[in-house]
Amino acid sequence: TPAPSPASPAPHADLAAQLPALREQYAALQARGLALDLTRGKPSAQQLDLAEPMLALPGEGVHTDATGVDVRNYGGLDGLPQLRQIFAELLDVPVAQLLALGNASLTLMHDAMAYAHLWGVPGSPLPWGREEKVRFICPVPGYDRHFSVCEAFGVEMVTVPMTADGPDAEAVAALVADDPTIKGLWVVPTYANPDGAVVSEAVARRLVSMPTAAPDFRIFWDNAYALHHLTANETKTANVLDLAAEAGNPDRPIMFASTSKISFAGAGVAFLAASPANVGWYKKHLAVQSIGPDKVNQLRHALFFGSAEGVREHMRKHREILAPKFAAVSRVLTERLGDLGIATWTEPQGGYFVSLDVVPGTASRVVELAASAGIALTPAGATFPYGRDPRDANIRLAPSMPPLAEVEEAMQAVATCVLLAAAER
Ligand code: PLP
Repeated sequence: TPAPSPASPAPHADLAAQLPALREQYAALQARGLALDLTRGKPSAQQLDLAEPMLALPGEGVHTDATGVDVRNYGGLDGLPQLRQIFAELLDVPVAQLLALGNASLTLMHDAMAYAHLWGVPGSPLPWGREEKVRFICPVPGYDRHFSVCEAFGVEMVTVPMTADGPDAEAVAALVADDPTIKGLWVVPTYANPDGAVVSEAVARRLVSMPTAAPDFRIFWDNAYALHHLTANETKTANVLDLAAEAGNPDRPIMFASTSKISFAGAGVAFLAASPANVGWYKKHLAVQSIGPDKVNQLRHALFFGSAEGVREHMRKHREILAPKFAAVSRVLTERLGDLGIATWTEPQGGYFVSLDVVPGTASRVVELAASAGIALTPAGATFPYGRDPRDANIRLAPSMPPLAEVEEAMQAVATCVLLAAAER
C-alpha cells in the first residue's frame, strides 16, 4: 500500500526550523525498507505487452514483403520499403531519404560520429579524427548517452542552456559563428530528455540557417520521442530537413529515431533521415559493415502497425499507461514542494522524463538520501557532460517503468529527501 502522504511544511516556513521533524520523517521512510527505482527511461512490462502479438509475426510461411522480396535473405540496405513508407509519413520526411536499419538509433548516432571521424562528412576539409580539436554543443540538461558518444571520440563538449523552445538558439549561433572546431550540436527536438522541451519552428529555423565557421557542421537531430505524446495534443515536430534545404543548408541535419519506445526497446527498428548527400554518405560506409538489416523484424513491424495511423493508435495506448504516472509525479511534487520555493520541475507533454531542479548544491545529497532510503535515482550530474552539473541542482526522474502505486510512493520519498536536503542547508 502506498505511504500516507506526510504533511508538508507550511508555505514559506523556515525549513531549518523543521529540520528535526524532517529527520524524523526521513528515519520513518528509511525504516520502511523500500526498494524502488526511478532511474530508467524504460517502457514498463505493461507497455511492452501492447506489442506482444508482434511476436507471432510475420508467422511461418509469411516471408515476402509487399514487393515480393524474400525478407529471409540478404540485401535491402535501405530497409523494408513498406516500413519506411509508414515512418516517412510519421517523421515527415521523403521515403527516399529515410533508412530503416537495426534495433537502436544510438548505434546510428555512434556510427555517424565514427564515420565522420574516420572519413569526414560531405563538405569536410579533413576527417574529424585528423582535426586538432573537435567540439560539439550539448544543450543541458541533456541525454547522458549523447555525452558518452562525444567522450568516446574525444569530442570536447560545450554546453548551452535548454529553454522551453529547445536549445538556446542565440547562444548556439554565437558559439558556431567563428569557431571552426565546433562541428556539431545535439538536439532532441520533441519532448527532450530530460526536460520535455519541444523545439519551436523559430528555433529550428535559426539552427538550420545560422552561419557556421565549420563548413561541415552537423546537427544530430535525435527525434527519439517524436510520437510519444502524454496528452491529446499530438505535437508535430518542426520539419528540419525541409527547413534546412530552404535555408540552403540541406546537409546540416541528420535525423535519428526508433521504435524502441513504440514496439520493443530491445527489438525495435531504428531510422536515419537526412539529405540525399548525407544518406548516400551514410550508406556508402554502412555497406561495408552490412549487407542489409533484419528485414524479418521490419516486416513484423510493418504487418503489426499496418499504417502510420496504426502507429499513432498504438501510441495512444502507451499514453493511457504513462499519463497517470506523470500526473502522479506532478501531483506529489505540487502537494509536497509546490509553494516552498525550493524546487522547480517540468510538466512534460510527452516523452519519458521529468526534470527536477532542487536547491543548488543539494542534488547529489538528495540522490544520496534517496539511495539510503531504498529509492534509486539517476545520479546527480548525469544530465551534464562529464557527469558534472556545475550547480549540483538537476535530477532526472523517470516514472515509466514502476507500477503507478510505486511511482507515487517513490515520489513521496523523493519529496522528503528534497525537503531534508534543503533544510540541512
Ligand atoms: N535518444 C534519446 C534522447 C533517448 O532518451 C534514448 C533512450 O533513452 C535513446 C536515444 C535511445 O534510443 P535507441 O533505443 O533507439 O537506441
